[in-house]
Amino acid sequence: MKYAWLFDIDGTLITTAGAGSKAMYAASEELYGVSPDEGTVVFDGSCDLALVKQILEYAEIEVTTESIEVFKSNYLSKLPDFLNQESESVLPGVEKILDILINRDDVVVGLLTGNMKEGARIKLEHFGLWEAFEFGGFGDNYEERNDVAKMAKRELSKRHPEIDSGHIWVIGDTPRDIICGKAIKSNTMAMTTGSFSLELLEDYNPDIVAHDFNQVYEMLPKLGID
Ligand SMILES: [Mg+2]
Repeated sequence: MKYAWLFDIDGTLITTAGAGSKAMYAASEELYGVSPDEGTVVFDGSCDLALVKQILEYAEIEVTTESIEVFKSNYLSKLPDFLNQESESVLPGVEKILDILINRDDVVVGLLTGNMKEGARIKLEHFGLWEAFEFGGFGDNYEERNDVAKMAKRELSKRHPEIDSGHIWVIGDTPRDIICGKAIKSNTMAMTTGSFSLELLEDYNPDIVAHDFNQVYEMLPKLGID
């Protein structure tokens, strides 16, 4: 029996002290001379395309394919400058779990993230994790996380048509991760390593809630990984 594990990035695999949001605000300041006040744009669980559109609208810039591309490339050029923060880290147990999963031939490891693909690569390469992921669903072309989940599932089906929804785990730290996992009829694993509490995440009925991947490691036999 083969499984696919699809991971969110921010708050699930790594914490970057808000590198993504800081780089977006800096790009907005540089390009348009204004940026939304911190906290007015909700980053947790959002897709980058939706965030870029919100920032363009705030700056009163017409949303076009071109203006989105200009913003994206400015953001991506700034993102590395906001990594290397003292408080950034790979979250507990992540390397151990990935090491186990990628070395098994009955588990496929992918991403399901709101990050644009290049932003995901920059963040995960910074922490030496990018190579662990075979494929992913990304937030370049979708505003809704459910659509990213469908993209990830399409990519999975192309590569591993034998894996059905019941053998997919969608793993993330926000209600949106749980909702999008359910939207593709997969199993859901909520992590309390982001900004949402156990109680709040439980309201969305994930199959599992874990406080970190060391706890997930203890659960592996129950998840068919022994
Ligand atoms: Mg997240």
